[in-house]
Amino acid sequence: MAYDPQNIFARILRGEIPAAKVLETDHALAFLDVGPVNKGHLLVIPKAEAATLSDLPDEAAAHVGALLPRLCRAVRAATGADALNIVVNHGEAAGQTVHHVHWHIIPRFPGDAVRWPWPHQSYADDEMEQMRSRIARALDAPESSS
Ligand code: 5GP
Repeated sequence: MAYDPQNIFARILRGEIPAAKVLETDHALAFLDVGPVNKGHLLVIPKAEAATLSDLPDEAAAHVGALLPRLCRAVRAATGADALNIVVNHGEAAGQTVHHVHWHIIPRFPGDAVRWPWPHQSYADDEMEQMRSRIARALDAPESSS
């Protein structure tokens, strides 16, 4: 989708609105989610302008990915959570509301109020092989990077 430079995370990156920042690099920013699922819920964003993970250059994704283990350790240490959900909502049907790609790091506690896991389906007949083949072919197609 087209990138809207007025989205709330772009405005945080430009310093137009405040954020509770915990880590900033030349290419990424991590800050507290203002409406946490559990307290200590972090958001990690690349500075590159990308609405979704599909739009993000590999190098920018790699940079964010390299920060995640350290951020996970810090959230666990600070909150006492043994467990975390690391989530990227990609597109509105998946729950994305802010259209600048972001990773959620959500501390989880036994018996907390979060509804998880999601329901699972099963494949019938040769559906699984057909799907495997479609995705494998899409990976080889030139448009797979767009
Ligand atoms: P999404 O639903 O797009 O995956 O996640 C967007 C997240 O951004 C939500 O969890 C929401 O609480 C958080 N959020 C929305 N506006 C702001 C804001 O102005 N500041 C901060 N720190 N978080 C925000």
